[in-house]
Amino acid sequence: MTSTAAEPQMPPTGAADVPTVDALLLGRRIRSLRIARGMTLEQLGAAIDRAPSQVSTIENGKREPRLSMLRRIASALGTTTDNLLVDEVPNERAGLEIAVERAQRGAVFSALGIGPIRVSKAHSDETLRTILALHAEVERLHRERAATPEEARRANASLRATMRARDNYFPELEAQAKELLVAVGHTGGPVSQQLVSDMANHLGFTLHYVGDLPHSTRSVTDSRNGRIYLPTQQSASRDSRSPVVQAFASSVLGHSEPTSYADFLRQRVETNYLTAAILLPESDAVRFLTEAKNFRRISLEDLRDAFAVSYETAAHRFTNLATARLGIPVHFTKVHESGTIVKAYSNDGVKHPTDALGAVEGTTVCRKWTAFTVFAAEDRFSPWYQYTDNPNGTYWCTSRIEKAKEGEYSITVGVPFEHVKWFRGRETSNRSQSSCPDESCCKSAPSDLADKWAHQSWPAARTPTSLLAALPTGTFPGVDQVEVYRFLEAHAPV
Ligand SMILES: [Zn+2]
Repeated sequence: MTSTAAEPQMPPTGAADVPTVDALLLGRRIRSLRIARGMTLEQLGAAIDRAPSQVSTIENGKREPRLSMLRRIASALGTTTDNLLVDEVPNERAGLEIAVERAQRGAVFSALGIGPIRVSKAHSDETLRTILALHAEVERLHRERAATPEEARRANASLRATMRARDNYFPELEAQAKELLVAVGHTGGPVSQQLVSDMANHLGFTLHYVGDLPHSTRSVTDSRNGRIYLPTQQSASRDSRSPVVQAFASSVLGHSEPTSYADFLRQRVETNYLTAAILLPESDAVRFLTEAKNFRRISLEDLRDAFAVSYETAAHRFTNLATARLGIPVHFTKVHESGTIVKAYSNDGVKHPTDALGAVEGTTVCRKWTAFTVFAAEDRFSPWYQYTDNPNGTYWCTSRIEKAKEGEYSITVGVPFEHVKWFRGRETSNRSQSSCPDESCCKSAPSDLADKWAHQSWPAARTPTSLLAALPTGTFPGVDQVEVYRFLEAHAPV
């Protein structure tokens, strides 16, 4: 049986004599002892009744000796099997050789298609150290490449497809939210700030509000001491319960450090889902929405006000429950004032624009859609409603603008025409026609203007920072780990 460092260590099977050991380390310990005793491969081979080549295979960690063989080797070398099996490199040189062997047997090295070197006395320690340093750098670049915008967009597209396939409803997350609510004695209705901090305590966390939270974070959890650090300064628009729930959500969901961008995105979606499911408990929200549906007056503003959450949270939560619990297909679009789609979800057949990789986020929304026309609405207080005729049917949407640091965003929820009967605002006379993705819809200028201004103008682009910014890397993309560790150290109890 061969065993390399790259493979997971298998538990011993009934046929094996020895517990699974690190064959490479064992081999190097045998070699080191043999050389210390002044024995050749031939001499050790003769002593254990094996060919020198077989001894060499064992020393190179390519074969794991059975216990009976190990005993013979130990006795030939004048030592014990226990001593051979000690988990310790025999000397610095052997440590280097083992590290090079391991690197060469790893996935990253194999993917390079370069033949491995046979480590021998001919290679100086310095050569081995250089090989190891190069390998470490290749691994680092490999990890960095895995976080390219392309990779992120692919991961995002596949995540959206999963959400659509499940109608954006996740019963296991609903169950976790319910369990927590029950544990702190929630009996129905909106969830108070006190109840949210009870949940944190129930999970073994204390809340600490500090003025110097690292700028790249919304909260920092110290799992070592069971502390959650939150900012003393909450932005006025932000609900003060969400950051607390988001902070302990990862612990409830059993998240481990993300290993890929896809992993990171999935965890973020789960965290946001659980947060919304706690702030708008399923049974209460469904009861509220069902009654509104019965009276044909579903309104996202009413849902927002009933549970004291942001409009975006209410809209997002509506997409969880609309199809699975109310039988209404739905789409959701969050658009920056520049027209760029920031978040999108649909299971009602609406055709969000996509890029070549199938990702919606980052593309530009149709200028005729509610998500864009709402920016021109004069009345920012009342909800904005609109019917839009698309090539594949008519949709009705309701939209609202929320302000953020980076500008204004429209949050839009829409349904196919046949489901508008359940909503307040269906009587609107706002109507628009979109023929997107046809270029003539809104992406090309009217011909009279184009004739006049083409080749007679030169706009200087204000380069958006996002165009040139590298995609955040690291275990927690966008988080400054140095800053976080220093912060934790400074605040940890002594
Ligand atoms: Zn258009």
